[in-house]
Amino acid sequence: MPNDLRALAAEAEGLQAQLTEWRRDFHRHPETAHQEYRTAAVIEAELAKLGIETQRVADTGVLGVLHGLGEGGRTVALRADTDALPVQELDWDRPYCSENAGVMHACGHDGHTACLLGGAALLAAHKNDFGGEVRFLFQPAEEVGGGAVPLIGAGALGGAERIFGLHTAPDIPTGTVGLKPGLNNASVDHFTITVQGRSAHVSTPHLGIDALYIASHIVIAAQALVTRMTSPVEPLILGIGKLQAGTAYNALAETAVLEGTTRAVSVPARARIRRLLDETAQSVAALYGGTVSTEWEDFTAPLLNDPQVTREAASVVDALYGPGHVKSDRALSLGGDDFAEYLLKVPGAYAYLGTGDPDKPGTQGPAHNGAFDLDEDALPMGAALYAGYALGWLRGGFD
Ligand SMILES: [Zn+2]
Ligand SMILES: [Zn+2]
Repeated sequence: MPNDLRALAAEAEGLQAQLTEWRRDFHRHPETAHQEYRTAAVIEAELAKLGIETQRVADTGVLGVLHGLGEGGRTVALRADTDALPVQELDWDRPYCSENAGVMHACGHDGHTACLLGGAALLAAHKNDFGGEVRFLFQPAEEVGGGAVPLIGAGALGGAERIFGLHTAPDIPTGTVGLKPGLNNASVDHFTITVQGRSAHVSTPHLGIDALYIASHIVIAAQALVTRMTSPVEPLILGIGKLQAGTAYNALAETAVLEGTTRAVSVPARARIRRLLDETAQSVAALYGGTVSTEWEDFTAPLLNDPQVTREAASVVDALYGPGHVKSDRALSLGGDDFAEYLLKVPGAYAYLGTGDPDKPGTQGPAHNGAFDLDEDALPMGAALYAGYALGWLRGGFD
């Protein structure tokens, strides 16, 4: 790894004021999934100032492309997610508080977007120092698992041989980077099971089919899939959070609707739990004379970092800041992130940028909470990681 990355870290520190300004602008104007129109327009304007050509993808996504003027013909993709959450920010004295009632950047995506703009600024300033192509993916709708797949479908990855992304991490301190090969996040899927029965008076149950009773059995049977049908050493969640059935206290329910989510830690386990739940729901319904239909919505695959790219990214952190900044023991989360979808296509790594500072309220999490904040002193490190990884790959520094 070239040792001039130390200089790049210093240049990133020089962007602190600009990074903070960008982050606060996005924080004041948060937009939920698929509504990121203002955010996209700001990103386009900022990239244009840097001389980076842009293209709108999937309505509210922005693809920026920067060609290096030096040697080499590699391509790297860098991704930041841009959406906010339907969360009310707690009304306290932050000068950059959300101006959209009930909407807040409570997951740090304002920081990711600022960091990637910072990475773009650094790379644009160094375009004589590398060849090939950098593809900046400003992705909407991460929170609903609907952003990555449309971008991939629109060809946003181009010919990228590598992808790198990052998420802010309130659980680790500013100045550290969580980087772990393999599993980092679980898959996330959403299911709806509709049970069809036949209504009848409770005094004549033999004339009807009780959808509520069947649905109750499905809830119980589903838990056996986790405790009896799958390995106890591989984490798996099958949660049912909604059950709606019946219209009258003295009638058998005609229909029942169950809604829930599964979280798995490998691609085969994700497919298997779906099949098991489908079969179980059908069998239980058939046992009591009813029928079911199950609909699945894919939110995201499990997030599996490529081991080689994870090593490359860790070497970039070392080259930027010296040894001792990489944390490889960050706890696994069964939350999901659709960065995983890119990793199914291109080898890559997802890093966790430490943004927790015990002296700054809200920065140690939890995320998705109205009191959440992030330590803006971490933003230069995020920008340097994006630019440093891209330079490392494009200049062949990992060979
Ligand atoms: Zn989130
Ligand atoms: Zn997030």
